[in-house]
Amino acid sequence: MKEIQEKIKKFCKDKNLDSTLEIKVLDLVSEVGEVSKEIIKGTNYGKKDFKITENTESEIGDVLFSLITIANQLDVDLEIALEKVLEKYQKRFEIKKEIGSF
Ligand SMILES: [Mg+2]
Repeated sequence: MKEIQEKIKKFCKDKNLDSTLEIKVLDLVSEVGEVSKEIIKGTNYGKKDFKITENTESEIGDVLFSLITIANQLDVDLEIALEKVLEKYQKRFEIKKEIGSF
């Protein structure tokens, strides 16, 4: 994960893709919307079981890219963040037998 974060940091620096944190968050929300659009397309507005669309993978990649740029700007190590959240969910599951709200 660290390698990916560094690769994206270098890419953004090389391509001069820096933006404010607020713009990065808006970009992330926009990309999540694009994933939603693919789910809508892939289910024909919920009328059928989901069938992966041509752009589903790409849109999920856009979400990850946007999220990683935010983590990079905030100096958040995503591997550590993910390990901590897994521990949190594990503890919740042990106590409540469910993960509950994220
Ligand atoms: Mg997109």
